[in-house]
Amino acid sequence: MDVQSSPFPSPVPPPETVDVLVIGGGINGISTFRELALQGVNVVLMERDDFCSGASAALSRMVHGGLRYLENGEFRLVRQSLEERDRLLNNAPHCVSPLPTVVPIMTWFRGTLSTAAAFFNLAGKPRHRPGLMIRLGLTLYDLMSWRSRSMPRHSGLSRAQIRELVPGITGEAVGGVLYYDARVTNPERLGVEMVIDCEAATQARAYSYTEIVAGDGTGLAWRDRLSGAEGRIVPKVVINATGAWVDQVSTRIDRTNAHKRVEGTKGSHLMIRNEALKSALGDHMVYYENADGRICITFAHAGAVMVGSTDIRVEDPDNAVCFEDEKAYMLSALASVFPSIRIADEEIVHVFTGVRPLPVSAEGFTGRISRDHSIEVEPPGARDYAVLTLMGGKWTTFRIFGEEVADLALAQLGIARTVDTRNLRIGGGRDLPVEPVARER
Ligand SMILES: Cc1cc2nc3c(=O)[nH]c(=O)nc-3n(C[C@H](O)[C@H](O)[C@H](O)COP(=O)(O)OP(=O)(O)OC[C@H]3O[C@@H](n4cnc5c(N)ncnc54)[C@H](O)[C@@H]3O)c2cc1C
Repeated sequence: MDVQSSPFPSPVPPPETVDVLVIGGGINGISTFRELALQGVNVVLMERDDFCSGASAALSRMVHGGLRYLENGEFRLVRQSLEERDRLLNNAPHCVSPLPTVVPIMTWFRGTLSTAAAFFNLAGKPRHRPGLMIRLGLTLYDLMSWRSRSMPRHSGLSRAQIRELVPGITGEAVGGVLYYDARVTNPERLGVEMVIDCEAATQARAYSYTEIVAGDGTGLAWRDRLSGAEGRIVPKVVINATGAWVDQVSTRIDRTNAHKRVEGTKGSHLMIRNEALKSALGDHMVYYENADGRICITFAHAGAVMVGSTDIRVEDPDNAVCFEDEKAYMLSALASVFPSIRIADEEIVHVFTGVRPLPVSAEGFTGRISRDHSIEVEPPGARDYAVLTLMGGKWTTFRIFGEEVADLALAQLGIARTVDTRNLRIGGGRDLPVEPVARER
């Protein structure tokens, strides 16, 4: 077969047989690939575009427990996310660092009942969250991560203190809270580094610009989108890690298995070059509520200020773009916390949109849809290979999600796990000291 495959990272053509084929090179597919490669499994990853070019390039760059998910009662998810956040601070200190976060408080007590009602699912969505509930949530957040003590505990801010920390913040803020989460400066880099680490240490191979186009129950057909080369691969286990495209790919690889598992919601961000906003924020993220109860965020990133995000159901992930009304929504939310800062059109230097691969839900308010992950397992039977399908998942939890998927694949293959990734450094973080002070020396 004369195949000229994509130049990076694998110069050799894909094999004709493999133990595991991972489809989708977003952060969750790469994490699964890494987990399996490190156990010595014969695994191939195929991504139809660049690695980490879907949702894994469009996130808010928060590596977080998810304070907001406490409102949905997702305590297990928050605890797990906090553990993974702390691991990433250790394993990838070149990309993941602490993010001091300020929450402005508009009222201390008013709204306590409606927020509590939303928590117990008695009312649609939380709105006008009072300081009392925010502090309660953060106390829980601190307790959930007390064992690692990787970050300082949250603290209250008086009216004067919040103005000192974030000059220009709305005069309506009666106070605030300062707490710590983390951020990833370059999520795509971390994904690519995991691929490079695996290719250097194992026989596993990853192919970008290689799309899975069909399956017939015995094998799958792929196409190299750069060279036009085509081929066929016969796996024992297929892992569908295609995020918002999971259902599309599922139908491609088996027409008899079409049911809706994932429902995408698009989220957009604005990158703004405005010196007043940038200097008001300093090193802080501001985490604020818009008039409709949705949480928005803003912090300095990549020489500009990132403002996000929206959360709107979409049918077709390939055509998700940021509409003008989304831009207006984010700018008006920003103006409600920084009323004296005017953003000119030409200061919006970049806009990006991605689609969250959320589970199908009847929930009217998209903010209520769970951000947890799950895995569908279809053993061989109708097909010669088993199929594992990934649904949901946050960027923060990619390691544990990949670990869980890999364990199911290992069980299908009858192979025991030998390598644990919980404390495994990634790429350029390998020799970097973790303490910020030591890092700067
Ligand atoms: C607006 C927004 C903000 C977010 N903010 C945060 C945040 O701050 N913190 C956080 O933890 N999480 C956040 N998330 C969630 C997180 O980004 C995603 O859950 C995560 O990146 C999903 O990764 P994935 O690998 O499952 O999907 P993706 O990254 O979308 O990867 C799926 C891949 O499959 C590929 N593919 C599709 N079809 C085929 C095919 N036929 N053959 C081969 N490949 C194919 C696609 O090209 C794509 O690269 C956010 C998400 C969005 C959209």
